[in-house]
Amino acid sequence: MTRSQSKKRGPWIDVACISMIVVLSMTLTFLGSSKESDAKQNTNNGPEVKKDVSTIESAFPGILITTEVKNDDYSPYAIQYPQSKVVSFNDRVKKYIDEQRDNYLIAMEENKRIDSTTPGELNIAFETFPHASGSYSLVMISGTYLGGANGFNSFNTIHFDPESGEIIEIADLFGHDESKLVKLSSLVRDGIQKDPSLTNRVLKEDMMLATEPKWSNFENFALIDDSLVLYFDEYEIASGAAGAPVIAVPLAALTEQLVAPYKLDVEEVLPKPPVEEVSDEAGEEPIEEPDDSDASENIVVVQPVEKGAKQVALTFDDGPDPKVTPQILATLAKYDAKATFFMLGSRVESYPEIANDVLTAGHELGNHTWTHANLTNMATDSITKEVSRTNNIIEQATGQAPTVFRPPYGAFNDDILNELQLPVVLWDVDTLDWKHRDAAQLLTSVKSSVHDGSNVLMHDIHLSTAQGLDSVLAYLTSEGYEFVTVSELE
Ligand code: ZN
Repeated sequence: MTRSQSKKRGPWIDVACISMIVVLSMTLTFLGSSKESDAKQNTNNGPEVKKDVSTIESAFPGILITTEVKNDDYSPYAIQYPQSKVVSFNDRVKKYIDEQRDNYLIAMEENKRIDSTTPGELNIAFETFPHASGSYSLVMISGTYLGGANGFNSFNTIHFDPESGEIIEIADLFGHDESKLVKLSSLVRDGIQKDPSLTNRVLKEDMMLATEPKWSNFENFALIDDSLVLYFDEYEIASGAAGAPVIAVPLAALTEQLVAPYKLDVEEVLPKPPVEEVSDEAGEEPIEEPDDSDASENIVVVQPVEKGAKQVALTFDDGPDPKVTPQILATLAKYDAKATFFMLGSRVESYPEIANDVLTAGHELGNHTWTHANLTNMATDSITKEVSRTNNIIEQATGQAPTVFRPPYGAFNDDILNELQLPVVLWDVDTLDWKHRDAAQLLTSVKSSVHDGSNVLMHDIHLSTAQGLDSVLAYLTSEGYEFVTVSELE
């Protein structure tokens, strides 16, 4: 099983407006342990590779994930972007990626000439949101830090049908009738005014310009569950490093403006699952008819999922840590929440009793390699060693072998998959907790992108994560989420 995203669609969190704040902290530091972040490689492992590029299939048919990692001390980057079999789509994605990467590397070279030795960082990730029409909204998020002042981030989105190769623009959603944008424009303006993260920051005139009813103002969009989500540049409508504003407009408010198949169609009923007990789950993926006809025939095991029950899998990487992990366990216990911990073998060796506490509390254990190495840079026997040593130490410490595997940096390829006996589990919500180290920011990150079936990446080695976790759990509980391990998530 390879899963980077949940295939399940569910109700969009009921928010009229959300704001994605991916403020790159000025306190970002590259000092300290090389194990601390998913964007930095342990340099003790093998020869340093200038740039590593690999492509794998994603959980979404027709969408591939290309990963580019450059690990050096001065201008490292970790980039993930979508690819497909459609050249025009690939070109458009690569144009954005090349621009982001080149701008970053050029700026870093310029810094060097003025004698700055402070390292920078570039991270680009993307999320895939499937639409009922078979197309996808792909949202790329780029965070740049140039080693000096504030970091900044940008969004780039493409809505795309991998079968037909068609790229769907905002104008297509509105039947190319620009007058229909007036309603969207006013809804977005309302959303911005009500967004608490933008309070007292909105630059009225700039905001009015950026939200005028023109196609070019709304070209960065995604269709996510029952919302049309609009993305704006970080300094476009608000002052200060408030993060790039993200405004979600319910499709229900735009039924008269949108054209099929993008408008919310109450008549539209997705194929019903063949089993009675779950037939009220309109909106869920259809359940496949089992086609094996062996002796236990006719017994169809279906987990009855209550309508509206949303699931989220919280995951904690890079531990265990003697200070942070116990705090996280206490907070999880307070909400009776189960989570998954992807542990480093080297840290389990140092803190076996903490690893054991995690299992005893009922959480799932995952293997995250021994040294936090980028496995795509390694020979097969070294990969095997990274994985098996970690399996062994976890079993030794807890009495139970890990059941899932997460590669550091999310970097893996077919060779690595072949070596693994464990399912690979990535994530779809990256809190960037290791980067912002800000307890309040943790909730903002989760709020901006969590949905039913999300797998949320955090790290149980930062105190700020432990401090911010309570409000994350309180929020998700109030939104009706249940907390499951990654193996329980489906
Ligand atoms: Zn990690």
